[in-house]
Amino acid sequence: MASISISWNLLTVGNANAILVHGTDMQKQVFAANEFNGRWAGTMCLSEPQAGSSLSDVATRAELEDAGDALGPRYRLRGNKMWISGGEHDVTENIVHLVLAKIPDENGKLVPGTRGISLFIVPKMIVNAQGELTGERNDVTLAGLNHKLGWAGTPNTLLNFGEGKFTPGGKAGAVGYLVGKPGEGLKGMFTMMNEARIGIGMAATMLGMAGYNASLDYAKQRPQGRPITGSGKNSEAPQVCLIEHADIKRMLLAQKSICEGALALQLYCAKLVDEMHTGQGDAAKEAALLLDMLTPIAKSWPSENCLEANSLAIQIHGGYGYTRDFPVEQYWRDQRLNMIHEGTHGIQAMDLLGRKVVMDGGKGLQLLASKINVTIEQAMQVPELAQHGNDLAGALKKIGHATKAAWASGNPQEALANAVPYMQAFGHVVLAWIWLDICLAHQIAPKSGAISAGIMPATQYFYRYELPKMDAWLAVVQSRDMTCANMAEEAF
Ligand SMILES: Cc1cc2nc3c(=O)[nH]c(=O)nc-3n(C[C@H](O)[C@H](O)[C@H](O)COP(=O)(O)OP(=O)(O)OC[C@H]3O[C@@H](n4cnc5c(N)ncnc54)[C@H](O)[C@@H]3O)c2cc1C
Repeated sequence: MASISISWNLLTVGNANAILVHGTDMQKQVFAANEFNGRWAGTMCLSEPQAGSSLSDVATRAELEDAGDALGPRYRLRGNKMWISGGEHDVTENIVHLVLAKIPDENGKLVPGTRGISLFIVPKMIVNAQGELTGERNDVTLAGLNHKLGWAGTPNTLLNFGEGKFTPGGKAGAVGYLVGKPGEGLKGMFTMMNEARIGIGMAATMLGMAGYNASLDYAKQRPQGRPITGSGKNSEAPQVCLIEHADIKRMLLAQKSICEGALALQLYCAKLVDEMHTGQGDAAKEAALLLDMLTPIAKSWPSENCLEANSLAIQIHGGYGYTRDFPVEQYWRDQRLNMIHEGTHGIQAMDLLGRKVVMDGGKGLQLLASKINVTIEQAMQVPELAQHGNDLAGALKKIGHATKAAWASGNPQEALANAVPYMQAFGHVVLAWIWLDICLAHQIAPKSGAISAGIMPATQYFYRYELPKMDAWLAVVQSRDMTCANMAEEAF
């Protein structure tokens, strides 16, 4: 049940926020208010069977019925939406679907590309201007449930809009109210998507932390094997617990450095969200730019690396980890979704290298680099951290060179052919920065006990075992390697 309420809450709050920012006063009073007070749940309906990553191919059609409706210009929607989380249930008395659809032009044709996409509120149950349910059902039909690898607590649905099973107002067609201006649907949806992407990063981090804690407990309790000593193994000696073996410690330290690092990154991003909303003038603008730069990393880095952490948690449990008797297999299954929804890994990588690092002449990248440089300079003053400071300075330079080299030919096909390895390297540099910053904060205000004792080893692990991986990732970016892009289809 916990995952049901967490995921539906996220959807509902994001959904209501999008209506708050872009909706009319009446839409705010009726729809956002009822979502915030928990009476109604929300969904986001972007994906269609033929349009996942490529939202420009959305084919759901919205035709104007009454421009003067009190709840906003009223349309009739027809189309299919795939993968809709919480798309049908009876936990709440109403479901507010936020739907992307296209308004046909004067010739009845849908405008190609994302320019043609508008945003609509489509309630499951018809509502009057006072926000009361009329008792009539809207023409939104559950066409099927998707049987997923994980996230068993959330129903995931295929919805048909306007198939004619229900006839609100005596007619087929799903009743929907335009939010914001026609053609600005993606902008409206991204009000919730940007926050949702950070939410995915946080969910990924928490699943990683859950696996780390479960495998740490297990490793402390499971007796197995004997230590390797100078004189070999003594079979008569009692067994030791798993946590005494170096390889188990390696897997625990890997999880700790990945998951706690990811948590610190998420908290930093949460602080930027606050500053963006509450800061004054330039401070708010700076926070927004940094957040824009970091969003693909905040979403993707934990999704990929905490999945690996969850895999290590299973490994520490041995065969037991592969059974349903222990929770770690569920964490891995639930985690596997995070590289897919809210923009796949590949799409996030293209957003980072294709847009974020080059936008405004690289302003966002320069700002991030200036923040990282402050940490490097401070670390150089601390003898125990100076080496890490040097390593981070080198890593940051390599990102700069690789970014330039990727775009040196000006050909997006070449630049973006290795966007995912670029994002992997970029993410590792951000996490190396975050860990060094944690070390510096600890120098200023030391904590006691295990927290304190773990900070330096986790940082050291990250710098020695993880950060060097970036060289292999950046090598193909820098040389604009076309091995994958040029592989002929028939050669597979
Ligand atoms: C459990 C679950 C819950 C979901 N919840 C919702 C929801 O509530 N609302 C909603 O609207 N959607 C939801 N989704 C849909 C999700 O956002 C999509 O699955 C995702 O956007 C990918 O679309 P797709 O599945 O059609 O894959 P595709 O777009 O077909 O992608 C398949 C693969 O091809 C890659 N690819 C695609 N295009 C390109 C390209 N141009 N260049 C390089 N690589 C490319 C992708 O990165 C991916 O690896 C959910 C999905 C799942 C599985």
